Amino acid sequence: MSSQNCDVVIVGAGFAGLYLLHRLRGLGYSTRVFEAGGDVGGTWYWNRYPGARCDVESMQYSYSFSEELQQEWNWGERFSAQPEILEYAGHVADRFDLRRSIEFETAVTAAHFLEATNRWQVTTNKGETVSAQFCVMATGCISAAQTPEFDGLSDFKGATYHTGNWPHEGVDFTGKRIGVIGTGSSGIQAIPVLAEEAAHVTVFQRTPNYSLPARNGPMTEEYARSWKDNYAALREQQRQTPKGAIGEFNDISGLETSAEERDTAYESGWVKGGATLLGSYKDMLLDNAVNETAAEFVRDKIRTIVHDADVAEMLAAKGYPIGTKRICIDSGYFETFNRDNVDLVDINQTPIERITATGLATSETTFDFDAIVFATGFDAMTGTLFKIDIQGRNGAALRDKWRDGPRTYLGLMTESFPNLFMITGPGSPSVLTNMMVSIEQHVDWITECLLHMRDNQLEIMEPVLQAQDDWVEHVNVVAHGTLFPQAASWYMGANIPGKPRIFMPYVGGAGAYRNICDDVVADGYRGFDFQPNPSQVAAAE
Ligand code: NAP
Repeated sequence: MSSQNCDVVIVGAGFAGLYLLHRLRGLGYSTRVFEAGGDVGGTWYWNRYPGARCDVESMQYSYSFSEELQQEWNWGERFSAQPEILEYAGHVADRFDLRRSIEFETAVTAAHFLEATNRWQVTTNKGETVSAQFCVMATGCISAAQTPEFDGLSDFKGATYHTGNWPHEGVDFTGKRIGVIGTGSSGIQAIPVLAEEAAHVTVFQRTPNYSLPARNGPMTEEYARSWKDNYAALREQQRQTPKGAIGEFNDISGLETSAEERDTAYESGWVKGGATLLGSYKDMLLDNAVNETAAEFVRDKIRTIVHDADVAEMLAAKGYPIGTKRICIDSGYFETFNRDNVDLVDINQTPIERITATGLATSETTFDFDAIVFATGFDAMTGTLFKIDIQGRNGAALRDKWRDGPRTYLGLMTESFPNLFMITGPGSPSVLTNMMVSIEQHVDWITECLLHMRDNQLEIMEPVLQAQDDWVEHVNVVAHGTLFPQAASWYMGANIPGKPRIFMPYVGGAGAYRNICDDVVADGYRGFDFQPNPSQVAAAE
């Protein structure tokens, strides 16, 4: 067992925790890494539902920090499925010998800042307490799976599953009747695969989602080469894009084009697959009129794909702009509703009244199921942090400080919680970007900051309240300059009853945000307050 005191506690061994551990170890920091799961991989460790797949291309959804790593690893598909991404995380852990420093199946339950010592006291579910100068939350943005409190849930005699916490041994649905609740990215990926296997699938939809075809396929040698031969330049380019991913992006306004030109552009994006269509015009997420042309294009596609006109209309998203809820990327989702063994229930028309012993009752019908799959999402961005009893100065709890919504400076730190960092925290671009790019940027920024403190004998740092207030205001203003707040999305906290409706991620773009963070450093860590290490100050006097 390693010592109870260390320089840095890292909470989580997903892609953020793994890279941070690698960097800090190389610089001689002592660390303790706690991971609730039984292995590395974070979100890809838990989300093992059938059909789980990344919606960022594999050549881009990967680490850039090691040239050897990015050259030696070979992806099998254009968009990787969960098992391959988990294998990649495992490969990284082995290649850089990281596992020996990670304590698995160990959840952090509390982290308290002790003002007497200026150190974090971190407690685990194994009853251990560790003292650290720094605590870094590498806990992920969508990690707290959310099962709604349906009446009668405990009465159900069949099996229940949540996509975000799927059994590791897999589930055999052969011959089973399944109810699936939720049609976000997870439901939209799982439903086509479940329908292939199960006897019958009934999908309960609250809000129809816009979904675009992935056009996934095997990775070609030629495509992989085109990236590997140019990785240095392409990674640099990636970092400066708004989404942290290189894709087609037309720098023209949709208002300047004719209806025919728009349809041609949308058709091209639809055929190329992934989120390409959303990059058709620069004002896609700024102008309702432009957005509506794309939304209607997608609705028309659904009307063409789905044979039953009533079902097609139920599936066609309306009432919010396309792209303002996280766009879904699917493989045969709408086609699935042409199968004889799949039914769709609009729970706005016929609400779910209760779960019963044998299934589920809506206001109109009772359904018998062998299993219910909850694809009902997550308490995003703040849920995982609030599961931990985090206390800063004066014993103030983070949950209380953020009661009206998260408040951070740059999404990296929050005032009154010295030396506590968040990787891809609320107020940073995080979930609006390729997470790998945003994770690497935050890990690099935090690492450089720790080095700055070590080199300058600084003991603690925290954001100045005014700088934090200004950042929160900026995040809000930028969000409200877009169409994003028009949707009741998890970005807004709208999927959790009682959660404050605040647009949580920073919509200003990964590249612009990176430049702001770099500028803050160049300006002497503008907006952060540092305090020296008293013993070193005394020694110098
Ligand atoms: P989600 O997008 O939040 O979708 C949850 C679904 O459950 C929604 O359809 C929601 O309806 C429904 N729901 C929630 N509470 C309900 C209730 N009480 N009654 C009925 N329906 C309810 O969650 P997710 O699909 O797990 O995806 C979350 C995020 O994870 C994604 O947006 C994405 O960022 C990430 N993700 C990525 C991938 C990928 O890379 N391809 C795959 C999966 C997930 P409403 O819309 O009405 O709230």
